[in-house]
Amino acid sequence: ADGAQVAALVIGTGYGGAVAALRLAQAGVNVHMIEMGMAWDTPGSDGKIFCNTREPDYRSYWLRTRTKAPLNYFLGFPIDRDIPRYTGILDAEEFGGITVYQGRGVGGGSLVNGGMAVTPKRENFGAVLPSVNADEMYSVYYPRANAGLGVGTIDPAWFDTTACYQYSRVGRKHAQRSGFPFVFVPDVYDWDYMKQEAAGTVTKSALAGEILYGNNHGKKSLQRTYLAQATATGRVAVSALHRVTSVTPAAGGRYTVVIEQLATNGDTTATKTVTAERVFFAAGSVGTSKLLVKLKATGALPALNGEVGKGWGDNGNVMCGRANHLWDPTGSLQSTIPCSGIDNWAAGGAFAEVAPLPTGIETFASFYLSITRNPNRAQFTWNAATGKVDLSWQTAWKQPSIDMAKTIFDKINSKEGTIYRTDLFGIYKIWGDHLTYHPLGGAVLNKATDNYGRLTAYPGLYVIDGSLIPGNTTVNPFVTITALAERNIERIIATDL
Ligand code: FAD
Repeated sequence: ADGAQVAALVIGTGYGGAVAALRLAQAGVNVHMIEMGMAWDTPGSDGKIFCNTREPDYRSYWLRTRTKAPLNYFLGFPIDRDIPRYTGILDAEEFGGITVYQGRGVGGGSLVNGGMAVTPKRENFGAVLPSVNADEMYSVYYPRANAGLGVGTIDPAWFDTTACYQYSRVGRKHAQRSGFPFVFVPDVYDWDYMKQEAAGTVTKSALAGEILYGNNHGKKSLQRTYLAQATATGRVAVSALHRVTSVTPAAGGRYTVVIEQLATNGDTTATKTVTAERVFFAAGSVGTSKLLVKLKATGALPALNGEVGKGWGDNGNVMCGRANHLWDPTGSLQSTIPCSGIDNWAAGGAFAEVAPLPTGIETFASFYLSITRNPNRAQFTWNAATGKVDLSWQTAWKQPSIDMAKTIFDKINSKEGTIYRTDLFGIYKIWGDHLTYHPLGGAVLNKATDNYGRLTAYPGLYVIDGSLIPGNTTVNPFVTITALAERNIERIIATDL
């Protein structure tokens, strides 16, 4: 409520925010979480909370009047459609050179993501977070994060027989015939539930095309893990459809936080001011970076250091499809939850997930999301003329990612006598190089903050999300975001409270 005093205010309810809220509450601190997206706890008129990827409706996109599907063409035809403007679940946020997809709602990215829960290889960790003690991460915080998130791996015997992973088995065959290591990718989806979906004994979710706009069943999003535990402490309150717009120093070492309440059409219906002893920025890489860059440039937090806004990367994301021969069908039933990948990181700088094309029909296509060692880093800056934050990323900066992904797929194509699909991202366009699912950086650990996420110029202000990670995690990022948050909040609770 307007004028309230809170001990700890957490901006955002994704991985970093959920970890902070749970651990602070367990330490006896009252927490108020502010989330600009919806609560996603109430069914619509169709009885479902989330809409299907194949039938995007008002629930699908964050304040857009037309869908912006990551895979925007099929057989050369654009597939986007008009929708009512609504505070939907997936934000396709457009900057000059890249569209950044993000989850909006209580649970952040966990509401929309594929649930792939990958711990980086130990030998790659030094490049991911150079100032962090790897021994501690791999002995304490990665195991803690994996347990808290409910990570599991597919039963290999079931994998070998189920129709819904025919596409992954084709991916395995092609990877292995070209000499690439094929690996199973852990996930937070409930694998037993998926088996029951395949057996027809429960309501289908992963096997019914649900993913990008939420899963009504099966996925252990943060709503079911960290956030459920946090609210069960009785010390955590969550305000959905509330957006933080300002944080400024107040008397007594506290902070004044300005919050706008939103209607589902995006209009601001009220502006509230609260006072907080501590503020945790957990608005995601883009959300936290935008806030900090604006607050520094407009004089609200002028002493933030010059690293704020820097070190942003796209985790090297690039997508492509391959056209298979008619004797290599990938299946009309495809689980939306990827379970496998092709690892050519050491030799070629690419880790490619074998991704579904859950169209419901046979496409004879193999589809991949590659994570690559793209070295390019962009910066967020305040644009006083527009009153917005810009990002300096350029589309051409994806070329290293394309080259790295080609180390896998050129070889497979030549071995199999196959070609790239050219109908998935436009007309005669092979590479999905216009987007990322994995924004990282903008308030890099040990640069914009100290080595535990403290914004040291302002005691009591912390960053605790993907903006701490300098642009790449070598694999899908949320396990690393969660583990780093576990490490940092433990230290903050022990020394700052
Ligand atoms: P987020 O999870 O983004 O949470 C930030 C929250 O803050 C959001 O809920 C946002 O609405 C809120 N917020 C922002 N600004 C404000 C404000 N001013 N006031 C109030 N609230 C605010 N990663 C994986 O590891 N595996 C995957 O399989 C995977 N698949 C993905 C698929 C898709 C389609 C997408 C979009 C992402 C995927 N990711 C995946 C990435 C992963 O979801 C993100 O890396 C992760 O969610 C980032 O966590 P975070 O805590 O930094 O922020």
